[in-house]
Amino acid sequence: HAKASGRNAFRYFTEAMNARAEARLSMEQHLRGAVANGELSLHFQPLTRIDDGRVVAMEALSRWRSPSLGEVSPTTFIPVAEDCGLIIELDYWVLESACRELATWRAHGATEVGVAVNLSSLHFRREGLVEAVRAVLARTQVPAARLELELSESPLLQGGPEVTAILNSLKAMGVRLVINDFGVGYSSLAHLRRYQIDRLKIDRRFVQAMEHTGDDAAIVRALIELGQSMRIEVLAEGVETDAQRRGVHAAGCQLVQGQLTGAPMNAETTLALLTAPSTLRP
Ligand code: C2E
Repeated sequence: HAKASGRNAFRYFTEAMNARAEARLSMEQHLRGAVANGELSLHFQPLTRIDDGRVVAMEALSRWRSPSLGEVSPTTFIPVAEDCGLIIELDYWVLESACRELATWRAHGATEVGVAVNLSSLHFRREGLVEAVRAVLARTQVPAARLELELSESPLLQGGPEVTAILNSLKAMGVRLVINDFGVGYSSLAHLRRYQIDRLKIDRRFVQAMEHTGDDAAIVRALIELGQSMRIEVLAEGVETDAQRRGVHAAGCQLVQGQLTGAPMNAETTLALLTAPSTLRP
């Protein structure tokens, strides 16, 4: 009897695994055509300076509406795209589209604002990134200093001469480098000093836990101090409440991103925001 139920449990288990694998495969197949079929779009979320409320940059975030799967969250399709290598093409599409939007904002007078684009860690294990960035900047005619590339801590940790060469080339071009989800990985001071990082984004898990535990508040303060001591800008992610904004500001953080200062919005709303007199004021 025990054997039979064990066999049933096994069958149930493999069926569940098969179903999951099939769902993933099906998503992968749908995702393959998504860029070419124009199913992807961009939303943008403001990065705001606390002192004067000015928007310093907009972060580009991908959105996918599949004709057969409906609206799929990036937290679902980005990992699938990374698994099957499609992320390279997807990120390049985002890079180009985001720079085109930036060119539009600039044409409407918003010349001080930057655009931030996420880069998967996979770009740092293959060739082509530096040339792709250079080509997009040339095609869209946006100044390199207005482009911010967001990477996770892992390329810094894996390090190696290839990663150093890529990051140095991007810096030499004038592009800004941002470390995403800072605090979750293990970037040491040595890593941060080795590369010319312009900004650290403190992971929203720490920011949001600040109010509840003293430990998290201490971590956030330490991360902000670390940035300050290395003259790297610090931004707090996922700021949802005024208490969180005041908390990070009191610790010395000048920049925030989150629901409080603006949720991700479509391109049209972004242009309206960036051309509103209050956003453009010097
Ligand atoms: P991320 O780069 O950390 O982006 C911020 C995420 O936090 C976004 O989720 C945004 O909608 C969400 N968020 C913003 N404000 C708040 C807030 O106040 N509270 C909370 N709880 N969440 C907030 P989204 O758009 O679902 O993107 C999730 C992740 O997917 C991104 O995290 C990024 O890692 C990845 N991603 C999105 N677009 C791209 C892309 O084009 N390329 C790559 N490689 N990754 C992308």
